[in-house]
Amino acid sequence: MNNNVYDAIVVGSGISGGWAAKELTEKGLKVLLLERGKNVEHVTDYKNATKAPWDYPHRGGRTWAQEQLYPKLKRDYPLNEKNLDWWVKDWESPYTESRRFDWFRGYHLGGRSLMWGRHSYRLSDYDFEANARDGIAVDWPIRYADLEPWYAHVEKHAGIQGSYENLPQLPDSVFQPAMPLNCVEEKAASNLAGAFGGKRKIIPARTANLTQALPGRAPCQFRNACWLGCPYGAYFSTQSSTLPAAVATGNLTLLTWQIVNEITYDRDTKRATGVRALDAVTGETIDFKARIVFVCASAVNSTWLLMRSATDVWPDGLGSSSGELGHNLMDHHLRVGASGRMDGFDDKDLFGRRPGGFYVPRYRNLFGDKRDYLRGFGYQGSASRQGWQRGIRELGVGAEFKDALVQPGEWRIGSSGFGEILPDHSNRVSLNHGVVDKWGFPVINFDAAMGENELAMRKDMANDFAEILEAAGAKDVHTYDNEFHPGAGIHEMGTARMGRDPKSSVLNEWNQVWDAPNVFVTDGACMTSAGCQNPSLTYMALTARAADHAVAELKRNNL
Ligand SMILES: Cc1cc2nc3c(=O)[nH]c(=O)nc-3n(C[C@H](O)[C@H](O)[C@H](O)COP(=O)(O)OP(=O)(O)OC[C@H]3O[C@@H](n4cnc5c(N)ncnc54)[C@H](O)[C@@H]3O)c2cc1C
Ligand code: SF4
Repeated sequence: MNNNVYDAIVVGSGISGGWAAKELTEKGLKVLLLERGKNVEHVTDYKNATKAPWDYPHRGGRTWAQEQLYPKLKRDYPLNEKNLDWWVKDWESPYTESRRFDWFRGYHLGGRSLMWGRHSYRLSDYDFEANARDGIAVDWPIRYADLEPWYAHVEKHAGIQGSYENLPQLPDSVFQPAMPLNCVEEKAASNLAGAFGGKRKIIPARTANLTQALPGRAPCQFRNACWLGCPYGAYFSTQSSTLPAAVATGNLTLLTWQIVNEITYDRDTKRATGVRALDAVTGETIDFKARIVFVCASAVNSTWLLMRSATDVWPDGLGSSSGELGHNLMDHHLRVGASGRMDGFDDKDLFGRRPGGFYVPRYRNLFGDKRDYLRGFGYQGSASRQGWQRGIRELGVGAEFKDALVQPGEWRIGSSGFGEILPDHSNRVSLNHGVVDKWGFPVINFDAAMGENELAMRKDMANDFAEILEAAGAKDVHTYDNEFHPGAGIHEMGTARMGRDPKSSVLNEWNQVWDAPNVFVTDGACMTSAGCQNPSLTYMALTARAADHAVAELKRNNL
């Protein structure tokens, strides 16, 4: 476009930014999509997608040298040789912690849509009404009915497989046929059906993996290697789903290597005029202009950008007038649950590698149940038959030992809870001007911790699943509670919440910044509470809804 002027600018090309680009271009807007990282070409750049462990220098694992280079990434499973290229380099983009926060990021075209676990669940009115009911934080400005058509809209295009269960706390999506439970999971589910008054259920996990082809995308081949990129386009990512749709309109301009570091603001019109970006390759600073800006850089990065956009009108950043910008950081807490052995299936083995397992929808603090904590949790798990790896820790040698390991081992079943973290004003991010990244920008400082509510919930998360397993027929059941630090759920939410009142929230019911209504923030930053469901499907629906509103408002000349 002439003089870098567009109808709309979208910042970030991950799950939320991809949806913003698709919806806005399909509605006829000329859209500039700015991505801070490199290009990742669909299929051709999935260089490890078909590699076996022996094709990697270190069999796909991690090395001592990598651990020295990646002190933050090494805190969890993301640090491994297989897709290291898609994780942020700790030394280029550092962050600081008043209290520990494990922040796992992907700065490249597609963002974490390439690496995500694809579990996709709708929120319900139990979630949208939760803050109002419990009298904490602020009320969501929307209800399930506002989002329901937009969930359906994004699900049809993204492709979500799952089973219709008719549960009020976990509304059904528009599903592709479910990936079935395996024989042991099915048996566990049927044994469980008669226990706990039917309230605790094992159902197939709902994931964004295709079981039926969509245009340009083949069904899943059951390889369970999604985090390496899918050559079939069988899981939802920006590259497989939203970007091709946006490109097909002819209305999209995509620029990679553009670090957007300021939203430019006109104090007279009280509107953003566009964004300022640093070209990470040339070092040049470029101003881009547009009538609307969609901020989709992922929760904490979107807030970083708002905070960076301080003016004398808003010295703490665009959207800071309520004093809530940067506050109410949330995640989901996990690494707690139980596992056991299932006997009686020695004549059965697994065929193929299903990218998903089972899900146990929330049942705590619902339907008359009352605990000494607020909210609840769901479980994600699977049953599988042990392979030769079970012998790695054994002190065995010799032919007999080797022959035994060639035979399949016992069936194990296990799960981890995903618990809701409450919005808490004291859990926050801020700019640390004392530390800069590779490009000279101040970094994010995290100051957040688990609260009493979450710690109390974790006891149920472990004990309940042991009860579930025993009712399901498992033997030798053990609970576990491994250490959890906020961030490790990789579901950062909050820091620019939606609300009904500009005095206590950053965004209105349409994801518009109260202080600059032509700026929309539609990623996890907008979340008013977290629910216990994996959140990305909700970002997709909120983004599509906000894009529809933005275009309608543009037509009415309101922006
Ligand atoms: C291993 C893993 C498993 C997960 N499993 C699940 C799951 O099962 N279900 C689920 O719902 N969620 C899951 N998630 C979380 C999910 O990936 C995120 O919720 C989702 O990707 C967020 O979408 P987003 O668009 O907000 O951010 P991202 O996908 O992170 O994309 C943000 C994009 O913005 C770019 N960007 C950042 N700053 C700037 C800037 N200043 N200028 C320009 N561009 C910028 C980034 O480079 C990136 O491309 C998982 C995440 C990981 C890593
Ligand atoms: S498991 Fe399915 S979706 Fe995942 S990479 Fe393989 S074919 Fe693609």
